[in-house]
Amino acid sequence: MCEFCTQHGEGEKWYLTMKNYSRELLNEKGRREYTAEFLNGFHARVPKSIEQLDAIRKTPWMRLARPMLIRAQKQNHYGQVAPMEDVEKIFELVHGAVRLPCVCRRVTTGNMNARYCYGLTMDRELMDALDDSFSLETLTKDEALESIRKLDREGLVHSVWTFKTPFIGGLCNCDQDCMAYRITHARKDYPVMFRAEWVGMVSMEACNGCRLCMRQCQYGAIRYSSNHKKVTIDPTACYGCGVCRAVCKKDAIVLQPREMVREAAGMW
Ligand code: SF4
Ligand code: SF4
Ligand code: SF4
Repeated sequence: MCEFCTQHGEGEKWYLTMKNYSRELLNEKGRREYTAEFLNGFHARVPKSIEQLDAIRKTPWMRLARPMLIRAQKQNHYGQVAPMEDVEKIFELVHGAVRLPCVCRRVTTGNMNARYCYGLTMDRELMDALDDSFSLETLTKDEALESIRKLDREGLVHSVWTFKTPFIGGLCNCDQDCMAYRITHARKDYPVMFRAEWVGMVSMEACNGCRLCMRQCQYGAIRYSSNHKKVTIDPTACYGCGVCRAVCKKDAIVLQPREMVREAAGMW
């Protein structure tokens, strides 16, 4: 399990621990104000942060800045990929969800109303503190899950996010327009999220080599062998999101616990 499970999981996965969604945590350490400021100010703040990062990322300063950036990120706003079955379990711990426009896509695509983010707290005070552009939609658990299952079939990767760790305030559904994807994976600046507690594996007997799963994988972790007419998943590249399974008509892909996969254990 990842370091957040050890620190905040009470023997469970940290994002399946009820306390981490609690009103008590939201009431502490200025989390409500932090969350409102984070969301309201994201569109103006992040392009400037990226400019600052661009100025140092190819210089020796980056080596010095990296550990500090990671530490701050883990304290304030860190994520972890979670497959759909874990999303289903998360919705057993919360009362419903508030759907809101994705703040990353505001920056990366200019779309101010791409509704891929789900707030997991129904806290009235926090909702009232968000600016009008968020025009929140309140969803029941069933409504939220139904819409997230649809996003799963489309290949969007689910992740949970802290607002002053360990409080979990949001569940995201992302593609390559996600700032976390870009900073952690595409640009490899520094990690702002953990991979999932899982790793994908293909059954050689079941796979028919159709390659539909390859288009679904955001991380380029699926390789095709024309010799074997099969695909395999590179465990060191796999983030364990599980969305490749949704398009496999042969049910050939399963997720295994990361700690059981020698090459991927400890790769977060
Ligand atoms: S993490 Fe994903 S859903 Fe959340 S704000 Fe970023 S792109 Fe949007
Ligand atoms: S979608 Fe399934 S059957 Fe098709 S290549 Fe991928 S694992 Fe094999
Ligand atoms: S191969 Fe891994 S990273 Fe790619 S879609 Fe499947 S589970 Fe996700």
